[in-house]
Amino acid sequence: RVKEDGRDGIAFFEQAMQVAASERLAIESELRKAFSDNQLRLHYQPQVVYGSQKILGAEALLRWQHPERGLIGPSAFIDVLEQSSLIFDAGRWILARACECIAGLLTDQLVNPDTFCLSVNISPRQFRHPNFVGDVLGAIRQHAIPTRCLSLEITEGIVIENINDTIDKMNELRQHGVHFSIDDFGTGYSSLSYLKRLPVDLLKIDQSFVRDCTGNANDAEIIRAIIAIASSLHMDLIAEGVETRDQLNFLHAQGCDQFQGYLFSPPVDEHRFRELLASGGFAQQH
Ligand code: C2E
Ligand code: MG
Ligand code: MG
Ligand code: MG
Repeated sequence: RVKEDGRDGIAFFEQAMQVAASERLAIESELRKAFSDNQLRLHYQPQVVYGSQKILGAEALLRWQHPERGLIGPSAFIDVLEQSSLIFDAGRWILARACECIAGLLTDQLVNPDTFCLSVNISPRQFRHPNFVGDVLGAIRQHAIPTRCLSLEITEGIVIENINDTIDKMNELRQHGVHFSIDDFGTGYSSLSYLKRLPVDLLKIDQSFVRDCTGNANDAEIIRAIIAIASSLHMDLIAEGVETRDQLNFLHAQGCDQFQGYLFSPPVDEHRFRELLASGGFAQQH
């Protein structure tokens, strides 16, 4: 009886997995086609300094320009992409596209090469690829950009899995001038002793804490703690997902000076991003 139930359980589980797996395969093969048909895009979300409201950088965010379904955000496909081998080719494409964008902004003098930084999200498997360092440096060289203009966003998950390898790779890139930030900070499990060993320049306060920071005392406390950690580790800080003036004012009062969020701009295509840079940022609106 017990054995039979167990078998049924397994059979049911296998069936459920098959449905999920076949759907996953369908998305994966669509993604492969999208990649070879040049349907992937990078959009850019400005990062803004308090006070001057100038754009000091941006985050590159992946989009899928689907011929029938329109523009699709990464939440619909990023898990499948990151778990398939396509992430390696797509990851190299993302890095190359980001460097190409930086090169164009510099050529047209839309940004200052000494201060501007474009950040690119790096998936764990992409980071762990044996040639990751070579891929990053290759993209930088191919487009002849200053290394300091590129920043890589990694998550706490990457750090925990293989701390010594992670640190070696980061240090190698850091020696060439590539910057690092920790994305979604506060949602993972990295310990402070790990964190202080990492060559990280910037912590990104996760938007889940920003969302209710003016109404939820716990989130406000977490933000204060993250700001204290960044300051004691001499790391810069940026808050993501800032949507309201109240959030902006709260975060600034706590000591955060850099912001990314709909309050300033959603992620936009390169053309619009260039227009924003040309108009001098958000000084008029805020
Ligand atoms: P993330 O790196 O934490 O990116 C921030 C997400 O917050 C973006 O969602 C952005 O559009 C959204 N966002 C920005 N400001 C606001 C705001 O004020 N309010 C709200 N509610 N949301 C805001 P998006 O573009 O859908 O990307 C989702 C996630 O997909 C990213 O989270 C990142 O983990 C992943 N992703 C995006 N592009 C890439 C990529 O090129 N490579 C890899 N490996 N992952 C990527
Ligand atoms: Mg990010
Ligand atoms: Mg994030
Ligand atoms: Mg995220």
